Amino acid sequence: MKHVELDTGLVVAGHGRHYVVETPDGRRLICHPRGKKSDCVVGDRVRWQATLSNTGDEGVIEAIEPRRNLLFRQDDFRTKSFAANIDQLLVLVATEPVFSESQLSRSLIAAESADIPARILLNKVDLPGAPTARERLAPYREMGYEVIEASLKAEADAARTRLAPLLQGKATLVLGPSGTGKSTLINLMVPDARAQVGDISQALNSGRHTTTTTQWYWLDSERESALIDSPGFQEFGLRQIAPAELAAYMPDIRAHAKGCRFYNCTHLHEPGCAVLAAVEAGRIAASRHRIYREIHEELDRPTY
Ligand code: GDP
Ligand code: ZN
Repeated sequence: MKHVELDTGLVVAGHGRHYVVETPDGRRLICHPRGKKSDCVVGDRVRWQATLSNTGDEGVIEAIEPRRNLLFRQDDFRTKSFAANIDQLLVLVATEPVFSESQLSRSLIAAESADIPARILLNKVDLPGAPTARERLAPYREMGYEVIEASLKAEADAARTRLAPLLQGKATLVLGPSGTGKSTLINLMVPDARAQVGDISQALNSGRHTTTTTQWYWLDSERESALIDSPGFQEFGLRQIAPAELAAYMPDIRAHAKGCRFYNCTHLHEPGCAVLAAVEAGRIAASRHRIYREIHEELDRPTY
């Protein structure tokens, strides 16, 4: 059999079993996975081969290169991988609407478990709710997360100047509940975002409006920096985490867990638990321990 040299490419969008693969020279083509299983996600580096029967803008994905990391999202009752090879996570919260600390913590836990650095972006600091939001984020700053403050709309230029160096040379996954300013952020940092979405829709199905679940946007013509948006994202899937690992992914809990009397302490009720003592003494925010408990119970529950 003749040896076939496969081409390389980057998955920049997906819709069902159709993937848009970008070649190293910037060409985009639609690819299907070989066989029934389609476990490709946006951010995957793949090897593909043109399909014989057509004009050359279609191909078959033959292999997925080993991933540096893989992220899962929870859609209703399904956990599904959705992005790979992410360099950092940017979690958007805003002064309004009031953000959920539980949702924020879940995102940070998902990032820790995938070994992806995370930053928090607090938007709309022009609004009167800013001091309260800042206060709610204080424990996160203390445990080591960088909190960037911005007004993406009210102070757009300042925000762009602030963010550009943080995004330089990286693939950044952006997350934010609706109303937070995620579209504002993407349009601010990716001036041709609409055109890039148009390109993808066109590649996927000749002009008809197609929503993709996750999309890769280049920030620069050199294609060194990218934002990854996952519209409709509700929550990270955390089910791949064992309950006993959870504390390791929460830096404030982790910092105290070493002092527990029992090596297998769950930090929920044990005597001599250094985490519970730290909560009692106010060194760990009570809200964080509540979140720990809530997620621990969830992970401990059997799946059917
Ligand atoms: P998305 O749902 O997360 O995509 O949020 P959008 O980008 O659509 O923004 C939601 C709302 O917040 C819009 O009405 C924006 O005008 C508003 N918004 C975005 N950035 C700012 C800001 O810096 N300050 C204020 N006051 N409002 C903002
Ligand atoms: Zn403990």
